[in-house]
Amino acid sequence: MMLREILQNKGRIVYSIPAHASLADVAAKLVEHNVGSLVVCERDGRLVGIITERDILRACADRHERLEDKTVERHMTTDLVLGSPQDDVETIMGLMTEHRIRHVPVLDDGRLVGMISIGDIVKSQYEQLTRENHYLMSYIQS
Ligand code: AMP
Repeated sequence: MMLREILQNKGRIVYSIPAHASLADVAAKLVEHNVGSLVVCERDGRLVGIITERDILRACADRHERLEDKTVERHMTTDLVLGSPQDDVETIMGLMTEHRIRHVPVLDDGRLVGMISIGDIVKSQYEQLTRENHYLMSYIQS
């Protein structure tokens, strides 16, 4: 299955936050939208980074500063691993495993068209296994 098909079902909404926002803003937005990551975009919409719940956890463990005083800019990851709508699920599973990440922004022709999380990958694999199991059971019983 390709990422395009997952995004067709899931939708293409990607939540974002500006680089000058605080980590307290990030935490509030993650909770508000029930997601684990936000992309960081410039004023012109250019994608410059990603910040996830893992980054918030790391920042919480460092008790020197309050989340309100820590900026996205200082805690985001800028060296991005990206996907394209034509990528298949297996490729993205490999990337997530290799880089130890659970979120992959999807770009089409340089334009952000969605976000794939590890939960989306598990869901798609589960559905495929259930389908295959169903067909095999019908085949065996017929
Ligand atoms: P995650 O497991 O996705 O919560 O993220 C683990 C770490 O990897 C965090 O420091 C994120 O900022 C970073 N990260 C998450 N997704 C990506 C990605 N697609 N490209 C680069 N870094 C990422």
